[in-house]
Amino acid sequence: MSEVLYRKYRPKFFKEVVGQRPIKVTLENEISSGQLAHAYLFVGPRGTGKTTLARLFARSLNCLNRAQGSTEPCNTCQTCQSNLNNQSLDVIEIDAASHTGVDNVRENIIANAQVPPFNQKGYKVFVIDEVHMLSKSAFNALLKTLEEPPKQIIFILATTEIHKVPETIISRCQRFDFKKIPQADVIKRLTEIIEWEKVQMDENILAQIARRSEGCLRDAESILGQIISLANGKVTEDLVSLVLPRNNWQEIDILLEALRLNNLSAALNQINKLVEEGVDLDTLHNDLLSYVRQVMLYKIIGSEFVSDLDTNWQNNIKIHAEGFKLADLSRLLNILLNKLSHKQQSIIDQLPLELACVEFLLISQEKQTASNFSSPNSQNTTGLEINPQDLDVLQNNWHKLADSLKSLNHSVSALIKSTHPLQINEKVIVLGCEFSFHIEQLSKNNIKQAIEESLSDILARNIAVNFEVDDDYQNKHQDFKGRSEEGIDELVNVFGGEIV
Ligand SMILES: [Zn+2]
Repeated sequence: MSEVLYRKYRPKFFKEVVGQRPIKVTLENEISSGQLAHAYLFVGPRGTGKTTLARLFARSLNCLNRAQGSTEPCNTCQTCQSNLNNQSLDVIEIDAASHTGVDNVRENIIANAQVPPFNQKGYKVFVIDEVHMLSKSAFNALLKTLEEPPKQIIFILATTEIHKVPETIISRCQRFDFKKIPQADVIKRLTEIIEWEKVQMDENILAQIARRSEGCLRDAESILGQIISLANGKVTEDLVSLVLPRNNWQEIDILLEALRLNNLSAALNQINKLVEEGVDLDTLHNDLLSYVRQVMLYKIIGSEFVSDLDTNWQNNIKIHAEGFKLADLSRLLNILLNKLSHKQQSIIDQLPLELACVEFLLISQEKQTASNFSSPNSQNTTGLEINPQDLDVLQNNWHKLADSLKSLNHSVSALIKSTHPLQINEKVIVLGCEFSFHIEQLSKNNIKQAIEESLSDILARNIAVNFEVDDDYQNKHQDFKGRSEEGIDELVNVFGGEIV
């Protein structure tokens, strides 16, 4: 049924062809003007209309009833009929992907091309599908014919892999690049077909089919055919779920959210839950890649980026785009591509995906640790080497540090409030200062020692202290202290306006 549906509704007129408008217009102009090339090259993804247009072009050229200046074939005359039934002696289709195609190219094409068309007013048209599969010697034979093309002979070479076609062949052809069919056009075409078939179907289902077919109209029509053949006139979501691969977006959204929130266990649980539910891992991988890509494009291009996904998902994509850094999205895509390309070698099916999550979050967590100093309203993006636990303790107890120094020197107590931690490890803490003369004050032996004792108390471990002038002082200090100006005011009083 599915393939039947595709053949049944193969466009018989140019006006019925879905998409590829610039190509149609050019071909029709050439038909009506009679200014034809000897060889055409149709390049593009599968299922986008290359063979359909090649046959239509050949039929139109050979139609006995076609009025001068018109481009559409009549589809009823003898040559149109034999063409539609694949019985035309003047339209020779060769699939180069088959052995016969490669082996017989010399015989089929070179010899046959010397014989004029049966239809004396028409053309002999050779359609060579998947032409990139021809052997080197076959290409050479073809090239010779293209260099000295016999009259009334037209070649239409179609390929999905143009990079495998020799440049010498390409340069002798008029080239057309076929595009994937836009979803809206696919939906429109499917809508026509269900009307002809007298089947009821929600547009939502047609949209699902269109999305799943990824611009390949043949696949879309094939899926639609399967669904119609199972239905009894009325198509339900349940029925569709039997034919269409399960819609994973919601599950993938949960997985990506776990990654965004740095929650490795949630990510791994989600993967294993899906595996237990019997989700198809290949589809899951592809959908996850596609989803992350959408998020990345949204982050770069913004809301004007038109996603292939439902509008419902646009909002989810926006949330992810705002939550992930661009560098992390690109890193995640690279890790996924890398791990998933090795998935055949894995004994445990879901292991590559699990490893991808672990690898992604390990580095994220390391970076997170390094940059956790930033508060939410911070504009500071320079990395501070300080861990969140120590940072918390220091933020909550900085006033204790200042208090402990009061007995020693009142101005030093105020001065320490103007510093903030820049880096910390087990043994050393570096405090950022605004001016070098502050460092001179704070580095005096007894003062430095008092600061170290106080900080060791606060952090509950022996710690040495160093000072540095902080180039990004204002930002970092505000991050650490909040927006309070208290410390600065006090300093101004103590140093008599020396602090600006
Ligand atoms: Zn005709």
